[in-house]
Amino acid sequence: MKASMTPSSHEPGLLDCLVIGGGPAGLTAALYLARYKRSVAVFDAGRSRAEWIPSSHNYPGCPSGISGHELLALLRTQASFYGISLINVHVDDLSRAGELFEARFEGGTARTRSVLLATGIVTRLSFVAGKGPERLIMYPATKGYPAGLRYAEAPFLVGEIKYKEGPPGTFIYVKATIIKNIDFATAGYLAANPAFPHQTTADQFFSPDQFDAYRLLGYESALRMIESLKLTTTITGQTSILEAYNESGSLSQLS
Ligand SMILES: Cc1cc2nc3c(=O)[nH]c(=O)nc-3n(C[C@H](O)[C@H](O)[C@H](O)COP(=O)(O)OP(=O)(O)OC[C@H]3O[C@@H](n4cnc5c(N)ncnc54)[C@H](O)[C@@H]3O)c2cc1C
Repeated sequence: MKASMTPSSHEPGLLDCLVIGGGPAGLTAALYLARYKRSVAVFDAGRSRAEWIPSSHNYPGCPSGISGHELLALLRTQASFYGISLINVHVDDLSRAGELFEARFEGGTARTRSVLLATGIVTRLSFVAGKGPERLIMYPATKGYPAGLRYAEAPFLVGEIKYKEGPPGTFIYVKATIIKNIDFATAGYLAANPAFPHQTTADQFFSPDQFDAYRLLGYESALRMIESLKLTTTITGQTSILEAYNESGSLSQLS
């Protein structure tokens, strides 16, 4: 978004570029702008999705992986080397002011020649209690063998997608997670490879038993999803998949 290449105003504090959003995209853009001697500030509300990344293995230059938190901290440190102002604030309004832009936030206004929007995306999730993403997370079983094994309540969840226009859609999300009563071969692979099924994706050369473990876990997870949601009838029947999901009993066999 650009107001003008030749701004008429030379007021003090006027920015060449205001970057709105301080996730990886905004911080990287700000770094490049600052290296080209532009005066830049990053206004960030502090809700980067990168904070959710436990360990990213596809970030260039980080062969052993890097957490989103660490990556953001490094990018902020790098930004500070170039004198970029990082301001923790939510921009509430952005408008044109002649050849410039005005960004309003609680307690102030910033004027800038150009604006770079790097606001990311926001997922709005709302689930019936006990039917949200928490059921996909593996928790330690309180008893059973071997000690310390972790299981998830279920390998899938169902949600509704609301569109601005048109009827809602349904999505079924199936996740690779350890569920109770997996087959013997998969359990064996897990015992020898505790990182399963969240092993690094950097190594794509699967051994045959590794390939089979993922295949069998995927097969079993899909089967449980189909049975629990009664997909053979709900997909075309009167009861919607979402209703079947919300009415289904707990799959949990945790002890
Ligand atoms: C669980 C999880 C795991 C992931 N794993 C990986 C991975 O391994 N590898 C990978 O490449 N990607 C991964 N991603 C995706 C990655 O996190 C995003 O692609 C990345 O964070 C997008 O960067 P961004 O800068 O565009 O947006 P974000 O990181 O979301 O940053 C946007 C920023 O803008 C701010 N903002 C928004 N509106 C305003 C406003 N009005 N005023 C001020 N600030 C505002 C927000 O608060 C936020 O801080 C993962 C995502 C999740 C959720």
